[in-house]
Amino acid sequence: MSRYPHPSAVDGPPLPEFRVGHGYDLHRLEPVAPAGAGRPMILGGVRMDSAVGPVGHSDGDALLHALTDAILGAIGQPDIGQLFPDTAPENDGRDSAEFLAEAVKRARGMGWLFCNADCTVILERPKLSPVKQEIRANLARLLGQDVSRVNVKGKTHEKVDAVGEGRAIEVHVVVMLAKELH
Ligand code: MG
Repeated sequence: MSRYPHPSAVDGPPLPEFRVGHGYDLHRLEPVAPAGAGRPMILGGVRMDSAVGPVGHSDGDALLHALTDAILGAIGQPDIGQLFPDTAPENDGRDSAEFLAEAVKRARGMGWLFCNADCTVILERPKLSPVKQEIRANLARLLGQDVSRVNVKGKTHEKVDAVGEGRAIEVHVVVMLAKELH
């Protein structure tokens, strides 16, 4: 097992090994079908009451996509688009929780322990606040973690650009994983 140089490795016991991962996703928002090409608004696996929804090949859950990519990034695995191509028929309308489950399985298989995830959702409407805690709890459930290890923050884009005009949703996620040194 690799041990990167650190003063503690000289003066005391080695530090646990850490990995940080960043995930980002954006989906265009359109009126929900049949009025437009939008799918029903699902975020973090939670259905939201909304006249607009994400355009996407899967269920379009930008938060689960960013979280999945953050974990895959931390462990140096191929990204979500490589693992689950938007050209594959089996991914059409697919529940994005299945993408996250694959990333979690890979991380666990490599011996990585989940520390925390911090998620920032940038969305003009529908408003995130009524479902924020439900989303947080659902992410914790999907990750098999206590809710204290998962945070969800909501922001608007101050009416500026496509996100601010309500034409897209944007999500950033940072995760930290750890592995004990033996
Ligand atoms: Mg996506």
